[in-house]
Amino acid sequence: MEIIVHKYGGTSVGTPEKIKSVAQRIKKVREAGFEVVVVVSAMGHTTDELIDLMQKVTDSPDPREYDMLVSTGEQVSAALLAMALQAMGCPAVSLTGGQAGVVTEDIYKKARIKEIKLDRLKKELKSGKVVVITGFQGVDSHGDIITIGRGGSDTSAVAIAAALKAQVCEIFTDVDGVYTTDPRIVPEARKLRYISYEEMLELASLGAQVLHPRSVECASIYNMVIHLRHAQKDIEGTYIMSPERILDSLDAARDKEGGKMEKKEAVRGIALDENIAKLGILNVPDRPGTAAKIFGTLAKEKINVDMIVQSIHSQGTQADLAFTVDRPELKKAVEIAERVAKELQAAGVVADSDVSKVSLVGIGMVSQPGTAAKMFETLSDAGINIQLITTSEIKISCVVKAEQGKKAVQMLHKAFGLEKVA
Ligand code: ASP
Ligand code: MG
Repeated sequence: MEIIVHKYGGTSVGTPEKIKSVAQRIKKVREAGFEVVVVVSAMGHTTDELIDLMQKVTDSPDPREYDMLVSTGEQVSAALLAMALQAMGCPAVSLTGGQAGVVTEDIYKKARIKEIKLDRLKKELKSGKVVVITGFQGVDSHGDIITIGRGGSDTSAVAIAAALKAQVCEIFTDVDGVYTTDPRIVPEARKLRYISYEEMLELASLGAQVLHPRSVECASIYNMVIHLRHAQKDIEGTYIMSPERILDSLDAARDKEGGKMEKKEAVRGIALDENIAKLGILNVPDRPGTAAKIFGTLAKEKINVDMIVQSIHSQGTQADLAFTVDRPELKKAVEIAERVAKELQAAGVVADSDVSKVSLVGIGMVSQPGTAAKMFETLSDAGINIQLITTSEIKISCVVKAEQGKKAVQMLHKAFGLEKVA
């Protein structure tokens, strides 16, 4: 029998009614002849509430007890869902991460999953039961409960799906799928039928927070298809899979439609990151080791640096360095940059938090010249000044004035015809 893994996020199991409606859906899939494994998050905002509770008791919790506490939310939703299934006459059992064989590293609060021991899971499936597993947790080598980082249930589900060699990992959530951009900014934004792992990772890291990025990484390693879809609707969402699989699916669709379907667009999505700030270090002496010193110090202080641009001066003895950081870290980053600038005898540090980053993402861009030029032209026509530019094979990012970020996304969405993307 084919195995299908379902994952339900907190809002999808947020109330008893929603748990019952989820159970209905699972029962149908089971009756259609599939073996079903379900991974659940905690109900609604339970995990946040547990953390609030903890903060009323202590502000320096022991990490072991933190994991013991926050992992309980998932136990509630798993047990309730198993009961709802049983009440509908669908045999089911709930398992904790540990009972389900999810083994993690020995690191509290943010462990990675090391392996999944399938014996118990397979036994339960064989006996005809739907298996409901608590997401977000496993056990370490000492048998302690370990959590795998906030939002980690997506990763639990993909890892379990990969270990079981499931046909697909269906992740049910409160959105219809992945869109070409945020529909709140561009109402014409389209739901994408397919997106590659790489594109999804870029969009997620660029602020389209739909999936836990580690779940996409894990899926790409094991070539597991993720189907991201709405928990309360019976419509297909977005398939996240390898470019090869996407091309096969597009070929199949093209054959069906008699060659009418257009070729895959180069730009697939536009992301806006409004949570950044820009720093510049001016007149840095141009000699080996300065960049290593600056970014090494920032890294040691756990400041995440994103875009980095170095510009040369005409005499060639000095350079300016500009880079971006997460906005909440600007103050700390400036302090560090000023310290290092002094040591290096640079002229000084400038900072600007009134900026946003607009990025085009698409794995087809690399083979399609002119995408960058068209992006810059579009922004220029809209009177939007570009402050920094970085590019990779699948992404072009521009930093612009914060108040112009949304307009930039709207203009680019139109210029690249994303309202027509399928
Ligand atoms: N309940 C956990 C959290 O809120 C894990 C998850 O929902 O994925 O972070
Ligand atoms: Mg989530």
